[in-house]
Amino acid sequence: MQSNKELQLLVEKAKRFSKDGKVADYIPALGKEDGNDLAITIYKTDNSYFHAGNFEKKFTLQSISKVLSLALVLMDRGEDYVFQKVGMEPTGDPFNSIAKLETLKPSKPLNPMINAGALAVTNMIKGKDLTEKWERLIQFVRALANDQQITYNEEVARSEFETAHLNRALCFFMKQNNIIEGDVESLIDLYTKQCAIEMNCYDLARIGAVFALNGFDPDSGERLIPEHIVRICKTFMVTCGMYNASGEFAIKVGVPAKSGVSGGIFAVVPNRYGIGIFGPALDEKGNSIAGLKLLEMLANEFEFSIF
Ligand code: GLN
Repeated sequence: MQSNKELQLLVEKAKRFSKDGKVADYIPALGKEDGNDLAITIYKTDNSYFHAGNFEKKFTLQSISKVLSLALVLMDRGEDYVFQKVGMEPTGDPFNSIAKLETLKPSKPLNPMINAGALAVTNMIKGKDLTEKWERLIQFVRALANDQQITYNEEVARSEFETAHLNRALCFFMKQNNIIEGDVESLIDLYTKQCAIEMNCYDLARIGAVFALNGFDPDSGERLIPEHIVRICKTFMVTCGMYNASGEFAIKVGVPAKSGVSGGIFAVVPNRYGIGIFGPALDEKGNSIAGLKLLEMLANEFEFSIF
């Protein structure tokens, strides 16, 4: 990548695909987004960056937050504890499916990138109460982005809290099977705040740079996440990060990435770039339709694939 102008040309090309997608509205507050938006920041590990589109516009992380809560919980509890409760296998099912929870024995969510697994992970965040758990999570996200202003969007959090009946069902199922403990309403409260953490493409790309550097802060050189935990997170992103389109994405783009129903995509090109994308028109699997095209174009042009 040589210039913002070059990136802007790719954004214009990719944007044309937005018309074939649809903004998520099962969380009513997300339905207000403009399906034509498409923005990107590419943050290089030498601290330079490129932008295109409305890159300052904030959006909520939704499922992208699952990678960050997983990193925190692995740091809090260690791998052995976490993987007693959550598996390591892709599902091939939609992100909010309950089907495998019932059919697999012993019953545990297949991986931390689907809703069931992410709810179990959020349930493991350390803290004496909801406030302390939330504070620890948001401070971790602020440190990764190097931005103390980051917080959550109250309207989106409330909107999801009021409508998250399927996520409640997943929690009750897991509570019955001793995967989660404690009060389900408090967990849904914490999870919906986590999903509503709000930032722009620049912040997300900067967090990506920490992952691209295997856990080091690109500015200070400080270690923010242990290397083996970054490796686990990136591996889940490759195998499960784009929901049941992860296989196709691995072939077409070939880097660790995680999407969210807000239209965000968080991608990591090891040792090179952190990438933050926002394009709220989604394909039928819940991934940003223009965002995927944009990543495909970038991957071809700059040989991103790790495979
Ligand atoms: N908050 C959303 C949910 O739980 C996150 C899902 C997503 O981004 N795929 O339904």
